[in-house]
Amino acid sequence: MGSITLQKVSKVFGEAKVIPSIDLDIKDGEFVVFVGPSGCGKSTLLRLIAGLEDVSGGKIVIDGRDATEKAPSERGLAMVFQSYALYPHMSVRNNIAFPLKMAGIDKAEIDRKVSDAARVLNLTDYLERKPRQLSGGQRQRVAIGRAIVRQPSAFLFDEPLSNLDAALRVNMRLEISELHQQLKTTMVYVTHDQVEAMTMADKIVVLNRGNIEQVGSPLELYSRPRNLFVAGFIGSPKMNFITGQHAAALNAHTIGVRPEHVSVSTTEGLWKGEASVTEHLGSDTFIHVRTEAAGLMTVRVLGETDIRAGEMVYLTPDTARIHRFNEKGVTN
Ligand code: ADP
Ligand code: MG
Repeated sequence: MGSITLQKVSKVFGEAKVIPSIDLDIKDGEFVVFVGPSGCGKSTLLRLIAGLEDVSGGKIVIDGRDATEKAPSERGLAMVFQSYALYPHMSVRNNIAFPLKMAGIDKAEIDRKVSDAARVLNLTDYLERKPRQLSGGQRQRVAIGRAIVRQPSAFLFDEPLSNLDAALRVNMRLEISELHQQLKTTMVYVTHDQVEAMTMADKIVVLNRGNIEQVGSPLELYSRPRNLFVAGFIGSPKMNFITGQHAAALNAHTIGVRPEHVSVSTTEGLWKGEASVTEHLGSDTFIHVRTEAAGLMTVRVLGETDIRAGEMVYLTPDTARIHRFNEKGVTN
């Protein structure tokens, strides 16, 4: 139950080859996140899996059966979108029950499934309210409830948290992770936010221009990015990239080092530069340094620092954590 396999799946809109060719295995029970910049084809790929778009080529296998030609309703999947698409005149109860009523399920079973979903989602006290009487987070939970009662073999989420404010997004992120631990149902989750991908996924699929750049666990992508795109996309603040003689000294065309793997000193170090901006987050400080040898670099220091903008400093990378890229931008 809940495995999804894509074999040479492609999608063309008119002249535009939005998905050239994708092969991917999603295991039963996995939490898989598709992440990539806006317009890279994440929603298109999810809609192909859901059956809301027809493939231009290739095959989609769900639970071991060819689903390529199946209608969305026959695929056993449930989709949750950024816009909640709730019925404003219906109570929370009836919104959640709606797909079951449409399927002609008997009332006692509907009631049981709705109460179960409401309990899992902390909506029990809100069942008689209308959507307008709920917060954004509660509305999104109702939309998820409507997906849960169908007992799909996989949930497909398309940027479900984008409409929520930052604090609520963090809450809902945890709630969806907890939900996955309880239900153990396959989840395929689309986001442009690498923090959501890193915190929620068992497996991240990094997409760029409709191609898969890398598939791996969050820490694999962080520690061993395969190319410059993944190295620059995963991690915040972004990895520093250095070209020229410092890269050549390490037999690379470009080297990369993350801000948390560079130490800063006022007396000695490898790269001299001027601290241009310091950002104080309390838990950490980001120091942006204009170096002569390596251009603008960002250093992350745990907690506070005495270094002020305008000061001369020296940076030293942790050599064990330097990433080397060849002339094709691939790790070597
Ligand atoms: P993402 O979700 O990663 O932001 P999308 O999958 O929505 O990206 O879009 C990928 C590309 O496909 C974009 O360039 C978009 O303009 C194009 N696209 C998406 N849907 C259609 C469509 N129905 N017709 C034509 N082009 C489309
Ligand atoms: Mg999208």
